[in-house]
Amino acid sequence: MAFELPPLPYDYAALEPTIDEATMKVHHDKHHQTYVTNLNGAVEKHPELGKKTPEELLADLASIPEDVRATVRNNGGGHVNHTMFWQIMKPKGGGEPSGEIATQISKDFGSFADFKKRVVATTAKQFGSGWGVLVFQGGKLEIATKPNKDWPLSDGLPPTLANDVWAHAYDL
Ligand code: MN
Repeated sequence: MAFELPPLPYDYAALEPTIDEATMKVHHDKHHQTYVTNLNGAVEKHPELGKKTPEELLADLASIPEDVRATVRNNGGGHVNHTMFWQIMKPKGGGEPSGEIATQISKDFGSFADFKKRVVATTAKQFGSGWGVLVFQGGKLEIATKPNKDWPLSDGLPPTLANDVWAHAYDL
């Protein structure tokens, strides 16, 4: 297989009580696995796609053969965004950032508390399934939302932070 499901970097129950074990199991083992399986299905039809990283595929969707472009966009997107999502969370994580990112947040949002309010207000407005993302553009941090499994990398912007706002991320 060209692409593989990365193991969750902590136990399924490690993020409780914020995210419960059952949600993490379904989200990682079922949803993320499905994106990987579907992406591999596209590679079976076009083996040359398997020589690229999923990030490279998303960064140049126009080069993907038309018959699998939507599959790569949705399932390559699902693979890349969930891989990042598992890595940016951790048991007993959270708290205020320090260093350059803290300075940039203060500069662009006033304070960390204001930044948090803006993240919640912006991502809560995403209608239907999608992702809340933090991107760095033109020397400035911006909070945005992307529908479905679209990823800012397809607009040339690697996200700094991303939050899954699909119902499957929290509904259990
Ligand atoms: Mn998800």
